[in-house]
Amino acid sequence: MVDTHGKGAGIKMEYDPYEIDITDLVLYLNDYCNMNCRHCYYRQGNHTIDTRWIQEAVDNLPNIKKAVIVGGEPTICPVLEEAVDILKSKNIAVTMSTNCKWMTWGKQEKNTGGTNNEQEYWQTKKREEEDHMKQGERKRSYTDVLDMIKNIDVIQISLEGPPQINDSIREEGSYMNSMDAIDFLKQNGYEKYPESTRKGYTGKRMFIRMTYSEFNLRAIPRMLRLAWIKHLPIVFFPLKSDTQPPLTSTQQVQLYNLLMKYSTDDGRRLAMSAVPQYWTYMGDTESYCPAGKHRINILPDGWVTPCEMNMPPIFDKLYNMEKNNGELDIDKLYRNIDYFLRNIKTVDDGCINCPHHRICRSGCLMTNEYLKCPLREQIDFSYFGDRIGVSTGQRMKRVGQLNTIIERAFVC
Ligand code: SF4
Ligand code: SF4
Repeated sequence: MVDTHGKGAGIKMEYDPYEIDITDLVLYLNDYCNMNCRHCYYRQGNHTIDTRWIQEAVDNLPNIKKAVIVGGEPTICPVLEEAVDILKSKNIAVTMSTNCKWMTWGKQEKNTGGTNNEQEYWQTKKREEEDHMKQGERKRSYTDVLDMIKNIDVIQISLEGPPQINDSIREEGSYMNSMDAIDFLKQNGYEKYPESTRKGYTGKRMFIRMTYSEFNLRAIPRMLRLAWIKHLPIVFFPLKSDTQPPLTSTQQVQLYNLLMKYSTDDGRRLAMSAVPQYWTYMGDTESYCPAGKHRINILPDGWVTPCEMNMPPIFDKLYNMEKNNGELDIDKLYRNIDYFLRNIKTVDDGCINCPHHRICRSGCLMTNEYLKCPLREQIDFSYFGDRIGVSTGQRMKRVGQLNTIIERAFVC
C-alpha cells in the first residue's frame, strides 16, 4: 500500500495492533443512482455488490455492531433487502442513507388522475425513473417502500439546505421529496420523541444530514429551524473536496458553538458536527476517527477501504473481495490496516501542540477540516460556554444525548 494522501510527511506514530477491532461496516450496495447531485463523490457505474461478500464479512468479523448502507441510491438496488437480512441475522443495527426520490413513486400512483398537464408531468417522471432502472432491477411501487425498509433501524435523510440551495445542488423538487419522506416515515414509526433520544433505545430512528461548505454555511440556522419543526436530530458534515478550502478556525468555532447552543439538555433538540474534533472541542477528549481501526467499507466492485469517504479516485486499498474469490483473508486485511494506521493516518505537523493529538491523530483524514481545527490554537468550548449560556453540566448532558444518537447509527 502506498500513501495516496500526501500526508505521509506527517508524524508517524506507533499503533497498538490489538486496538484494531472492526465494529462498523459500510456497504456501498451500488454505484448507480437516480439523481446526479453536484457534490456527489462517487462515480456513476453499473456495479452491484455481491451479497456473498457481505456474508463473508459478517461471518469473519464477529464484532460488527452497526452498518450503513449507501450507494448510489440503495432503494434502486436489487439486493437491498438481501443485504439487510444478512446484517439483521447477526443483530447488526442498520442505517440507510437515501435521496428520498422514492417519494415520487407515490406521487406517480396518486397522480394517475388530474389534468392533462399533470398526467404528462408524472408520465415524464415515470419514464425518467424507468430510464434509471438498471439491468436486473425490478420495478417498485410506492407501497413497496415500507416493505423494503421494514428492517432498517435508522434512516438518514440528506438535505443540503433550504429548498433553493438543496435543489440547486441535488435536483429540482428533491427538497419537497425529502419533506414528504420525513412525514411518511414518521407516520410509519420512525423517530418517536422522546423515547428515541433515550439511552438504550432500539426502535426506529431518523435524522437529517447536511453536508456543509462555504457555499451553504449561512443556511445552517434555517436548517436548525427545520430540524426543530420536524423534531429530528440534525448532523452536519464538512464537504470532502479537493478544491474548496476547509472552514476557517473562526467559522468552526462559530458553527460548533451554534450547534451546542441549539441543542437542549433533554434531547428535544439535537445537532452535531460529525467530525472527531467537534467532540474534542466539546471536552470529550477520547474522540478519534474510526477509519480502519474500527471501520471498513466495501465497494460494489469489491475494493475494501477504511471508510465511506475513502473512495476512488484517491483511496486506500485494504483488500479486494473479488480478486480473492470472495473470501476474506483476515490476516492480510489486518496487516494492511496496520500499515494504513501507522503510515497513512499520520498526525499533521500543525496538530502536534494539541494535547489530544495522540488520541485524535488529526481527526478526519478525508476532509481537510483538521487544518483549521480551533484546538490547534488551544481554543475549545470552555472558553465560550459562560458567554453563550451553556454551563459545563449542560454541555456534558448534551454530549451524552448526542452519544445516544450515534450508539446505533452512522453519522460520518
Ligand atoms: S488539533 Fe488536531 S489533534 Fe487536536 S483535536 Fe484538532 S484535529 Fe485533533
Ligand atoms: S472521520 Fe472522516 S476519515 Fe474518519 S471515518 Fe469519518 S469520514 Fe472517514
